[in-house]
Amino acid sequence: MSPPGAFASHAAMPESMAEGRAAPMAGPAKAPAKSPAKSPAQKALEKLGLRRDIDLALHLPLRYEDETRIQRLIDVRDGELVQFEGQVTHSEISLRPRRQLRVTVDDGTDSCVLRFLNFYPSHQKTLSVGAQVRVRGEIRGGFVGREMVHPSFKLAGGELPGALTPVYSTVAGLPQAYLRKAVLGGLARADLSETIPAPFLSQMRLQPLSSLREALQFLHHPRPDVALAALEDRSHPAWQRLKAEELLAQQLSQLQARRIRAAMRAPALNGQSRAGGQPSLQAQLLERLPFSLTAAQQRVGVEIEADLKKNLPMHRLLQGDVGAGKTVVAALAAARCMDAGWQCALMAPTEILAEQHFRKLIGWLEPLGIKTAWLTGGQKTKERREMLALIASGEAGLVIGTHAVIQDKVVFKNLALAIIDEQHRFGVAQRLALRSKMTDDGQEPHLLMMTATPIPRTLAMSYYADLDVSTLDELPPGRTPIVTKVVNDARRDEVIGRIQGQIAEGRQIYWVCPLIEESESIDLVNATQTHADLSAALPGVLVGLLHSRMPPAEKKAVMALFTEGLMGVLVSTTVIEVGVDVPNASLMVIEHAERFGLSQLHQLRGRVGRGAAASACVLLYSTGDAPRLGQTARARLKAMAETNDGFEIARRDLEIRGPGEFLGARQSGAALLRFADLTTDAELLAWAREVAPVMLDQYAGLAQRHILRWLGGKAEYLKA
Ligand code: ADP
Ligand code: MG
Repeated sequence: MSPPGAFASHAAMPESMAEGRAAPMAGPAKAPAKSPAKSPAQKALEKLGLRRDIDLALHLPLRYEDETRIQRLIDVRDGELVQFEGQVTHSEISLRPRRQLRVTVDDGTDSCVLRFLNFYPSHQKTLSVGAQVRVRGEIRGGFVGREMVHPSFKLAGGELPGALTPVYSTVAGLPQAYLRKAVLGGLARADLSETIPAPFLSQMRLQPLSSLREALQFLHHPRPDVALAALEDRSHPAWQRLKAEELLAQQLSQLQARRIRAAMRAPALNGQSRAGGQPSLQAQLLERLPFSLTAAQQRVGVEIEADLKKNLPMHRLLQGDVGAGKTVVAALAAARCMDAGWQCALMAPTEILAEQHFRKLIGWLEPLGIKTAWLTGGQKTKERREMLALIASGEAGLVIGTHAVIQDKVVFKNLALAIIDEQHRFGVAQRLALRSKMTDDGQEPHLLMMTATPIPRTLAMSYYADLDVSTLDELPPGRTPIVTKVVNDARRDEVIGRIQGQIAEGRQIYWVCPLIEESESIDLVNATQTHADLSAALPGVLVGLLHSRMPPAEKKAVMALFTEGLMGVLVSTTVIEVGVDVPNASLMVIEHAERFGLSQLHQLRGRVGRGAAASACVLLYSTGDAPRLGQTARARLKAMAETNDGFEIARRDLEIRGPGEFLGARQSGAALLRFADLTTDAELLAWAREVAPVMLDQYAGLAQRHILRWLGGKAEYLKA
């Protein structure tokens, strides 16, 4: 039944085991056919992002299996992945401990029992007594001798491959054998002609393999005598070549995006005093603020102003720790924009946050005669229509809202500045959409992005070469540092006791509930339960519940009660994660803290410590059935307990997770590096940074081909 030359594999094998094994019983794997109807495997390929031949060629093996040799059972150790040939000496279906096929194979040096918990008649047929078979699997010391569970097998004999067998990362519905053929096909068809000019190649200190084709062919099918360590740690010349190409593509595309932007025009927002000799809005706003700006806020303000005065679109990231005071910086930029007679839009990732900005900015700006429009998804049609009219006529100088701000229907009269708060929460497509709200004469708005998740410098250099960065490295005065305690969930009652104490002092408490699964409904059950528990444990205290499934009006009502100080405890899922500002809240309890990411924990913690009172954060953890917490969870909680500094947190986060995931979580849209690693490939990065501008100038055609090859459709996103 199995195709000649292919190992039969076990149909009921768990996905993890099946990986790397042979074709399913269903029949020989075919390379993707060119028929219009897509097979499930083709869809799975697309899901992996493997659309073009070059994408397939760049889908590199996770690891390799050595099928190039036949081993002797007597020479191999338990736990090794082994391939051997021998004769079936015994075959039976045993019913205990459960129904299974047990086959003994003897290779003349030793014997091994193959066990199959699920099997087909074809298994029995191929593995009948007397048959010579080739078997591959992990060998274990079993109860009564050595055994393999669910090994792959086929009839013995036949040629041994000359190269290691690649094992690719795959998804459900995409058998390894199918993927292998698809990759092989892609590799054969892809245009792998040289794009890097020879003088640049020779500038590299490490000598990579001479061509991309050679490097890829090698990495997909390495010779068995290769030093596997050099493949694993990616130091092999073939890897060097690939990483150099990838880094070059990244630098080229960012440089190109920067140049494209440099050719675009934006309104120059020069400061003006108002009609009738009145001071500018900005000056009036500064005058009215209940505090004076920190030195960091002033410095950053100057940087932004300098950009806004130019007729080039600003593309600036304002990073500053939670509570550093980014909002007022944004408000001052908005005032500058309106002073010049243009509109400004402020977009926030959640309705709660947008609403909070709205209130705060209204409080500051309406007394100065500025009209502010409010846009959100949950808005009534009539109100929405009114708002759209205000925006189109230009009557509203400032527009605040959620994603609703970038919808097609929203037409600005003259948008000159777009501010995106907590930019990492927005997708790239949304940022692009905001920027596409161009003015009539084709000018682009200036873009100011704000984030409380700072980017460590090494990453900023390579991923955000296309971005100017301003940093608020100072907190407003009078903040008391937050004390963070990591507490076992078994001591929950003590924590509740502590809440009572805080309430008695007139303070308010956030209690954030676990993110048990990706499923919101399960989170909800948890939050609801905790809400009930706390309500019972704290008689006389108003305990509120907030979660993302609530209708907006209800959320608003709960939030209002908490903001006004009428509610003692707010139990919530992570909807409060970003930006909420209630200075009287001084205790944050995070349940199942071990399940949160580091930057998320830091964001959550930033909800307290906003007033003058000493604040605390309690990270409740639970090890579940395990004796202790996993290593990375422990590292995260430890980092939280040890530092309040967002930059240090970001650095540790990067250390714990590695750049790929770190950036992935930010939805940065910068093409993530798949192969290169900034910590180990600094030298290649330096090379790419040096070469990219020259290549763009002198070899424009090659540069375009190189970008397209590596980034394909993603190149557009780099402009965001
Ligand atoms: P974030 O950077 O996290 O967005 P916010 O802009 O919400 O921080 O500011 C946090 C709090 O600090 C707000 O209540 C804000 O009014 C206050 N604040 C901002 N700047 C100053 C300052 N220079 N002095 C005192 N308080 C400030
Ligand atoms: Mg904020």
